[in-house]
Amino acid sequence: MKRIFPLAAACLMLTGCGAQHANEKHSRDVFAMDTYMLLTAYGNDSVNEPLIRAEEKITALEHMLSVTDAGSEIYAANHAGGAPVTVSGDTAAILRTAADVSAESGGALQISVYPVVQAWGFTTGSYRVPGEAEIAELLQNVDDTRILIEGNTLTVPEGMQIDLGALAKGYTGDAVTALLREAGITSAIVNLGGNVQTIGTKPDGSKWAVGIENPFGGDQLLGTVHVGNKAVITSGDYERCFTAEDGTRYWHIIDPADGAPADNGLRSVTVIGESGLRCDALSTALFVEGTEKAIAHWRACDDFEMILVTDDRLFVTEGIVNDFDAGSVLPWEEITR
Ligand code: AMP
Ligand code: MG
Repeated sequence: MKRIFPLAAACLMLTGCGAQHANEKHSRDVFAMDTYMLLTAYGNDSVNEPLIRAEEKITALEHMLSVTDAGSEIYAANHAGGAPVTVSGDTAAILRTAADVSAESGGALQISVYPVVQAWGFTTGSYRVPGEAEIAELLQNVDDTRILIEGNTLTVPEGMQIDLGALAKGYTGDAVTALLREAGITSAIVNLGGNVQTIGTKPDGSKWAVGIENPFGGDQLLGTVHVGNKAVITSGDYERCFTAEDGTRYWHIIDPADGAPADNGLRSVTVIGESGLRCDALSTALFVEGTEKAIAHWRACDDFEMILVTDDRLFVTEGIVNDFDAGSVLPWEEITR
């Protein structure tokens, strides 16, 4: 009898410790897809293993989706000389969303604009301003409607090259949050560069706070959105850009209409919704569309909210207004249906 008591006491202490650490923060830094990523999950030590598997998943997707990795599915399709190639369900799902968002944005999203992005040096960092004739020639092979995706068979026409950079991180965020959810994690936030995806709420039950970065530089946020179980995905002109010798600034999101950086007064677009993949595709498309078309696009859909940043104001759609805290940098306006 005597021996049972100390054992019981030890058990109690262990349980006590477990409960105390149940909501500990566990983080993992990952560098992949040319991006610093931070995966954070709350729970006891058992959340570390799914975080490691999440990193492995990110690396596997990078290998599968990269445009430069000679072993990737995209590389194979781009170098097949117009012949069909078999791709994974992941790649097929991304391509179908790209086609949908390209169609609903009037062609603002064009994954086949890649050679133009390359000509500006955004893929390597060797920046340059390509000449008009060079851009005109490259634009002849920019047309996403000619990409064929039937089941798991992808055909990229000869002379065309595609890149999923506009939406691959959103898909990756979906894959990571699905993996963490399946492992039983109920509180997590993953930050893949400008893409934030969340599971549940913070351990205290409150929503996650995601800051809207200031495209004009400076530390002050333009505002904060509060979300649970949502993706918050931003495209901005400040993320990858360079200033030419004449002082003109150029950035990485290209308007397929003229092959130059989309220059319509929008500085950033943040899209909030359930699917990281769709939100990522939309953030790039809406940035190219510009304020007016972006608002019309939002009105035609019912599955996302957005925050548009221009030089002098923010536009915030009605479905997110109650979860939005404005900063003091710019005034904001509500957009209604
Ligand atoms: P994001 O940061 O999600 O807006 O993605 C921007 C990236 O998508 C760029 O760095 C380019 O690699 C690529 N990109 C640029 N313009 C377009 C476009 N109009 N359609 C599709 N992809 C684009
Ligand atoms: Mg995007």
